[in-house]
Amino acid sequence: MVGNLKPDMDRARRSFLELLGAGAISVASGNPPQVVGQPAAGSTKLPAGPPASVMAIAAHPGDAFFAMGAPVALAVSLGGQGTFLSLSLGERGSPSIPAAQYGALQRDASNRAAQMLGAQTAFLGYPDGEIPVNDDAKFAVCDLIRQHKPTVIITHWKGSWHKDHRACHEIVSDAIFYAALPAIVRQHPAHTVSKLFCADNWEDADGFRPDTYLDVTPIFDRWYEACALFPMWRGENGFRYNDYYRSRAVESGCLSGAQHAVALASSPDQLVRHIPSL
Ligand SMILES: [Zn+2]
Repeated sequence: MVGNLKPDMDRARRSFLELLGAGAISVASGNPPQVVGQPAAGSTKLPAGPPASVMAIAAHPGDAFFAMGAPVALAVSLGGQGTFLSLSLGERGSPSIPAAQYGALQRDASNRAAQMLGAQTAFLGYPDGEIPVNDDAKFAVCDLIRQHKPTVIITHWKGSWHKDHRACHEIVSDAIFYAALPAIVRQHPAHTVSKLFCADNWEDADGFRPDTYLDVTPIFDRWYEACALFPMWRGENGFRYNDYYRSRAVESGCLSGAQHAVALASSPDQLVRHIPSL
């Protein structure tokens, strides 16, 4: 399969296990991330160290589960931890259900979907459409990063037409920076995130260029089932998330030689570096 792919796609193809293990090592040592193609016979190896912990941080619950959820589910299935953090409940997303009621539905769906995937949830409760970009929000996310200690964070790509999504990207970038600084004393000790990825999201397509494809075939059906718990999954709010994200997974799978895959972009200006001090 790999021999039929274009060279740039070949370079971009990486296995999830190698990504979470070797990728973290290469970033910490200052070397370029290791590029992994189809492993030669007998060369596949499990990463050293504990299984990866993946945290999805999104503006709205739907983004966290639909665009970022499959990698979280995959990490859990490999023995790691998974966390879904939503900065708002997306409570203003329904054309027919009052915000307070819809927010409760979104929270309930998130909790049930996370339970199905073996992951945890966290919510910050900022108003949908009005997520603020300030230090209160950045430190709130910083505290949750320190509490959950993710190896990998997945968030929004910065090129979005949605102001909440752009806000989330900026908040997460600075929260990762704050979380890694021992001199910033909070309830939990400093924690350095090894890798930051941006998700393939239909609303964040401006300049999005994936460089990593994760084979999510083993957990695809379970992830799809979990997403179906959300009240907007089948197009109830005007967009057919189910058809879109299933189709994207098939398309990304075709491009990377898997049945179902998720495309991610490691933001070149957002690579996490170890920060020993200010
Ligand atoms: Zn959103």
